[in-house]
Amino acid sequence: MSRSSELFQQAQALIPGGVNSPVRAFKSVGGSPLFIERADGAYIYDVDGRAYIDYVGSWGPMIMGHNHPAIRQAVIEAVSHGLSFGAPTAIETIVAEQIHKLMPSMQKIRMVNSGTEATMSAIRLARGFTGRDKFIKFEGCYHGHADTLLVKAGSGALTLGEPDSAGVPADFARHTLTATYNDLNSVAALFAQHPGQIAAIIVEPVAGNMNCIPPQPGFLQGLRELCDQHQSLLIIDEVMTGFRVARGGAQAYYNVTPDLTTLGKIIGGGMPVGAFGGRADVMDYLAPNGPVYQAGTLSGNPVAMAAGLASLRLISDENIHKQLAQTSAQLAQGLRDKAAKHSISLVVNQVGAMMGYFFTERSEVTCFADACSNDSQRFNQFFHLMLEQGIYLAPSPFEAMFVSTAHQQGEIEATLEAVDRAFAQL
Ligand code: PMP
Repeated sequence: MSRSSELFQQAQALIPGGVNSPVRAFKSVGGSPLFIERADGAYIYDVDGRAYIDYVGSWGPMIMGHNHPAIRQAVIEAVSHGLSFGAPTAIETIVAEQIHKLMPSMQKIRMVNSGTEATMSAIRLARGFTGRDKFIKFEGCYHGHADTLLVKAGSGALTLGEPDSAGVPADFARHTLTATYNDLNSVAALFAQHPGQIAAIIVEPVAGNMNCIPPQPGFLQGLRELCDQHQSLLIIDEVMTGFRVARGGAQAYYNVTPDLTTLGKIIGGGMPVGAFGGRADVMDYLAPNGPVYQAGTLSGNPVAMAAGLASLRLISDENIHKQLAQTSAQLAQGLRDKAAKHSISLVVNQVGAMMGYFFTERSEVTCFADACSNDSQRFNQFFHLMLEQGIYLAPSPFEAMFVSTAHQQGEIEATLEAVDRAFAQL
């Protein structure tokens, strides 16, 4: 028995499902998850001493590769001054400045500890500011696990076939309206049905929790216009896309200005961090200035801020995103070429450093229904064929795939060779 399997067995006795976040459990692909000992650059190393080229990147934060020396050093320095003070520190403003510079629509910013907190708080703020209860989300989009957002959710909820979670009272979810991604008519219809009642739209600007689905031309602009027309707020959830799709996030890439933005992952450099921010007049509705309450014992934690600042400084270099987009494009095209060679029907979507592949007969994948046409049996087989060859992919057909700056030519070529051998066996 592998050491990973042994540890997984032990974990299951004390931790539900043996994991602290469901999709880690390999439940949909089957088998025992790898237990990781360490990671460096493009590689993760499991407790059995095997190395893997990693395309999960801790689900997004590791855009500069694992264990980046500048981030590690920043953390070590911060730790030497103490772990938490529960009082303001200078670095919180410096991080806010850095975020504002990269995303100017974020005029004011509040730090939290996860993406879930960021979206949950942004929704509360939008409701408080507009005095309206309802909001619109899209089927297959995931915005963390707050009660009102676990409605037709993506990511692990979808992977486990639970897009609507048990334990969420129908009364809590009844103000959550769901529309179809890339379908403006479905959004307009909801505004028509609920006039003057919709506080906000929350959207993943590139959907990354039903695999990877980019917005169709005009979709995000259309949401902006609908929000303006109905005095609702547009919340762009850039927890995944922020500083990954482009230097200024998806809002810069697609040239759309939200009222509020939510962030996570990269802004913590691997530490637990989230943030939300946007229009100053809206953000000033937050306590202690305004009536919308939101707080956190460890929010703006100095060690997390140090890691985040180092990460943000690294990704501020424009060339980083050119390199990341090139690497992703090369990998995406390589996947398409190998699929054609082996007569496998495959759709590959890619935007900047975010991508995804679908074993589907459809010619394109633009919404949740398309994403569900992904042949999950084929996906699982492919996943394990790649894992055996030392390539660590996301263990779900509903997750996006990430490269980092540490993924160099050698890693991409090795990955595509493994794809070639895997496709030959499908
Ligand atoms: N929003 C989006 C778009 C996400 O991808 C995620 C997590 N993958 C979240 C929110 C929730 O973030 P967290 O897991 O940090 O709570």
